[in-house]
Amino acid sequence: MLLLKTIAETWNACERMRTAGKTLGLVPTMGALHQGHLSLVRAAQASCDAVAVSIFVNPTQFGPKEDFAGYPRSLEQDCRTLEAAGVDLVFTPSAAEMYPNGASTFVEVAGLSDRLDGASRPGHFRGVATVVAKLLHIFAPERAFFGQKDAAQIAVLGKMVRDLQFPVRLEVCPTVREPDGLALSSRNSYLSDEQRRQALVLYRALLAVQQQLHGGEHDPGKLIAAAMRILDEEPAVRVDYFSIVDPETLEDVLDVRPGAALVAVAALVGATRLIDNLPL
Ligand code: AMP
Repeated sequence: MLLLKTIAETWNACERMRTAGKTLGLVPTMGALHQGHLSLVRAAQASCDAVAVSIFVNPTQFGPKEDFAGYPRSLEQDCRTLEAAGVDLVFTPSAAEMYPNGASTFVEVAGLSDRLDGASRPGHFRGVATVVAKLLHIFAPERAFFGQKDAAQIAVLGKMVRDLQFPVRLEVCPTVREPDGLALSSRNSYLSDEQRRQALVLYRALLAVQQQLHGGEHDPGKLIAAAMRILDEEPAVRVDYFSIVDPETLEDVLDVRPGAALVAVAALVGATRLIDNLPL
């Protein structure tokens, strides 16, 4: 496994793969790897000749009061995990490598970036779009793999790839959950046992919407009200948003139809912001 820290080395390694006729799959991550990340690696291995993983806690996607400094980091363990998984290349740049002095060019996906998490985290999706554009530029992969877990991110990146005509296919992999339904997240390590139990209400509320929809309820107001009653069972969980949206535009849907909507939630459990969603 190649372990590279500079853009120049990574660029050259990818060029060698292309010359050898290999297709490349890219899995961008912020590290603190779990089975969700590894599911993306396996999906990439299933459809590409070579797989690269980037590990970069991207400062530009964190707000000034967010958890950039404390974000879980476990680089050595992550590299061992990726080597055992058979990954070909791991890219672990420094912030100075990705944002050299004076870097002031950003990618802004207008409109979409202000919805869902973008509404509560101003500038977040500008940071995400910028770093992913840079990674697509460095690796020029045939395919890039992302988790359904970050549904708004998928919408933003899909629009960016279409608008900027990146020659890459974005692949979306299903959310990996704990057996009790909690979506895997690097931030779950912040939770106490009690908070972890409280956080399960998020998935219960999402499932309730899915069940009511299958039962014939299409009114988003009624579906959301039913979910909020469930969320009220855990007063320690403070809801940021609970929305039923079009998965591409992230705009609220007025009539919820299976196959054309996404129910998404963000909430604070203690100081930890968790997100989850279900495609309906
Ligand atoms: P992160 O390291 O949190 O930025 O996530 C890197 C990638 O892994 C993103 O595409 C996420 O959507 C994806 N991911 C994170 N958690 C999960 C999960 N539980 N299931 C599937 N993919 C996930």
